[in-house]
Amino acid sequence: MARVWDASELSLDPIRSRAVAVVGYGNQGRAQALNLRDRGVEVLVGNRDDAYAELARADGMTVLPVGAAVGRGDVVLFLVPDEVQPDVYRAEVEPALRSGQTLGFASGYNVAYGFLSPAPGADLVMVAPRMIGRSMRELFVEGRGFPVLVGVERDESGRALETALSIAAAIGAGLPGGCAVESSFREEATLDLFSEHTWAPATVFILKAACEVLIQAGVSPEAAILEVYGSGEIGEIGRAMAGLGLAGQMRLHSHTSQFGHLLWGPRYDTPQLRSLMAEALARIQDGSFARRWQSEQAGGLVEFEERWRRLLDHPLFGHEERLYRRLGRVPSRAAATGPTTQP
Ligand code: NDP
Repeated sequence: MARVWDASELSLDPIRSRAVAVVGYGNQGRAQALNLRDRGVEVLVGNRDDAYAELARADGMTVLPVGAAVGRGDVVLFLVPDEVQPDVYRAEVEPALRSGQTLGFASGYNVAYGFLSPAPGADLVMVAPRMIGRSMRELFVEGRGFPVLVGVERDESGRALETALSIAAAIGAGLPGGCAVESSFREEATLDLFSEHTWAPATVFILKAACEVLIQAGVSPEAAILEVYGSGEIGEIGRAMAGLGLAGQMRLHSHTSQFGHLLWGPRYDTPQLRSLMAEALARIQDGSFARRWQSEQAGGLVEFEERWRRLLDHPLFGHEERLYRRLGRVPSRAAATGPTTQP
């Protein structure tokens, strides 16, 4: 069993006396920097001087070049995208890093797969929120917490775990409803990729298939899209799963609906589905997916763009576009080509 610390067991004390350099001011960087500052921690932001830096200044942050921020922080939270971390680390973080510091990641990916190997000297910890940055900030403002996975890859100081737990406390896991679960860089990377290769994409493609089956059967695209995902009910079901359990949330549905779930649900859990999941897991664990993604990036994302194009060419997204424009929403074709992060 993993060790679990609930919100009341997470102490802020170790981080209170240490300056935190937040490198990157995107999804995670902004949320973590704001939450840390609001918990009374001294925060500096390290970023290139561009729109993200401007946003940080507008939020009242002190912004420095990455190397200067790393040099001034006791704790360095490295929150640039995983794809660029190895290069940014080598060019700007490593030269400024010194013994006695703590280097923190929000994802285990690069360290677990050896794309980034920090030299000895600093503690190496992971505090990986199970929440997107924007929601971390919103929950924090409402006084509510969220779960994080914590891991220690290197403990030079003998206090790496307590530092990681206090970072967890300060970014929001220490608020009611939050918790920290003991994990590792490797386990977090595996979990993250497993979700990204199994139930999460399966959900998108099952919902797409459901719309197609309904439309082919004569249901209007508008009614099909709103029924299957456009109403937002699926988000409410997700929230109910978190509060009442995966099966418990079914009690919120009608008896007719419950009977349909119990009758049809098990039929989708096929040996083929499980073998697909096992294949995905094997490719994550033996590193072949990580190597493939590395070479895709090095080759200029040709397959990535082609797969996006093929998906969005589907007629469903034409129907969605007409409906969403009518309702003042952002359809997939616009969302997929627009900016994904602030600013
Ligand atoms: P973002 O894409 O939101 O990061 C954007 C930030 O990174 C900006 O400040 C940007 O500044 C900076 N950045 C991007 N490219 C470079 C570069 N080449 N050199 C220097 N800075 C750069 O990242 P996320 O917040 O999504 O991810 C950060 C970490 O958090 C990752 O490890 C991710 O796995 C993890 N994570 C993310 C979650 C999320 O909410 N998205 C959830 C849980 C974990 P600029 O371009 O101006 O330099």
